[in-house]
Amino acid sequence: MRRAGKVVAEMISETRLAIKPGVTTRELDRVAREVLERRGARSNFLGYHGFPAVICTSPNNMIVHGIPGGCVLEEGDVISIDCGAIIEGYHGDAAYTAAVGEISQAAERLLEATERSLWAGIDQLRDGNRLHDVGQAVQKVAEAAGYSVVRKYVGHAIGTSMHEEPQVPNYWPGTPGPRLKVGNVFAIEPMVNIGTPDTTELDDGWSVVTADGSLSAHFEHTVAVTEAGPEVLTQA
Ligand code: MG
Ligand code: MG
Repeated sequence: MRRAGKVVAEMISETRLAIKPGVTTRELDRVAREVLERRGARSNFLGYHGFPAVICTSPNNMIVHGIPGGCVLEEGDVISIDCGAIIEGYHGDAAYTAAVGEISQAAERLLEATERSLWAGIDQLRDGNRLHDVGQAVQKVAEAAGYSVVRKYVGHAIGTSMHEEPQVPNYWPGTPGPRLKVGNVFAIEPMVNIGTPDTTELDDGWSVVTADGSLSAHFEHTVAVTEAGPEVLTQA
C-alpha cells in the first residue's frame, strides 16, 4: 500500500503542475494515465461501475465523481481531482482541490479549511481511538470555519479493494464507531461546502454537485494506523 500510495502521490503532483487556465479535464486525465503507465500501476477508477477515466475531475460547485472530458478550466475556478492506483492488488486513493490561476478569497478560505479538516481527521487515526473521533474532528474544523460537511458521501477503509467496510463519515454518526487498531488503513476524505450539505446527482449518473450551487472542496489521503501514529501513504 505504501507503493500504491507513492504512485497516487505522483498523480497528484503531476496533475497539479498541469492545472492552468485553458486546460481541459481530459488532458489532466491523460497526465494521470502517464503516471500509472510509467509506474506499472493499474487504475482502480477506470471501469469502476463503468467509470471511463483514471481520475475524477470536479470543478467549482461539483463535489465529487466528475468525468474528465471537454470541460475547459478557467481563471478563478477551483477543481477537485481524485486519483487512485493499484500496485500488486493493493489500493491507494487521494484527492485535492486546486486553484486555477487567481481565485477569490472566499474560495481560498474554503480550500484552506477543508484541507485543515482533513489533517485534523488524520491526526485521530491512532491505536485505541475510535473511528467516530475522525469524523468529529473533521466536522469541528469545517463548521468552525462556517461551512457544512457533506453527509451522503464519506470516507472508507481501503486495502485489496478501494472501498472496504467500515465507512468513515466526516461527522458525528450518531453512534460510536469501532476501535482503531494498528494495521487499519483508511481513506479520509472530507467534502466541505460553503452552503448547505445537500447534494444532487447530475444526469450523467456520476457527477455530484451541491444542491444550492455553492462552492465545494474535497481533500483525501490514504492513511495507515501504525504504532508510531498515523502514516500518510499518499503524500509526496
Ligand atoms: Mg478518492
Ligand atoms: Mg476515497
